[in-house]
Amino acid sequence: MCHALDPGRAEFYELRMTLLYEGKAKRLWSTENPETVRMEFKNDATAFNGEKKASFENKGRLNNEISTLIYGMLENAGVSTHFVRKIDETNVEVKKVTILMVEVIVRNLSAGSYCKRTGIEEGRVFSQPVIEFSYKSDELGDPLINDDYIREMGLATPEDVAHLRKSALTINRILTDFFAKSGLRLVDFKIEFGRLVSNPSVIVLADEISPDGCRLWDLKTGEKMDKDRFRRDLGNFMEAYQEVLERLKANA
Ligand code: UDP
Repeated sequence: MCHALDPGRAEFYELRMTLLYEGKAKRLWSTENPETVRMEFKNDATAFNGEKKASFENKGRLNNEISTLIYGMLENAGVSTHFVRKIDETNVEVKKVTILMVEVIVRNLSAGSYCKRTGIEEGRVFSQPVIEFSYKSDELGDPLINDDYIREMGLATPEDVAHLRKSALTINRILTDFFAKSGLRLVDFKIEFGRLVSNPSVIVLADEISPDGCRLWDLKTGEKMDKDRFRRDLGNFMEAYQEVLERLKANA
């Protein structure tokens, strides 16, 4: 006799699903609903544009849990996102979007490529958030671009860019407060946006929000609790993600 499959579990969908896209840390699968896709969090970690690679047990689960918690909180705060529901430990259902080929980075303190580019030491607190755009291209290494590049490259209209800036600043305020309640300082983060396939005039927040794409420092000790532990071989990589999740859960 055939086992009835539970529609709440990924295996149910697996049978009739096609892989639409495989990225460095996630896979996208079709669902039976033409307006949604399943986003699967992998255990892989990459850094330096894919030059450094490794796999870590539980990474997919931890990032999914963290991202789901953050998306729920952002939706409650009035931010429009692609999020629909969590399916299981490593899968979420999200609205199908056409991702804008522009990554939006928001910085509250100097770190990473900002320091490299300017020679400024890590940890300088900015008077106001710094917003950066980069062109989503693995081939070119996600180069820094500006509003004029975006317009001339046809990546988005000036009105869209104004919307991205405004949303990024709002999301930064909400996330900064949210992480602060858990004793974490939001140093910088990367977000992506997409146009709803069902209504392309609507741009929503898309992709994951996890310690893979945020710098989070312990507010008291300054300890790094994000992907820099992997980038810089600081050890206890997954332990830091687990700690972030536990603190967020305790304070959500
Ligand atoms: N970031 C990301 N994906 C990218 C580039 C950056 O998630 O392709 C995140 C990164 O984790 C950090 C922030 O965006 O939280 C700023 O990154 P930065 O430009 O300093 O780059 P990196 O340190 O990766 O060279």
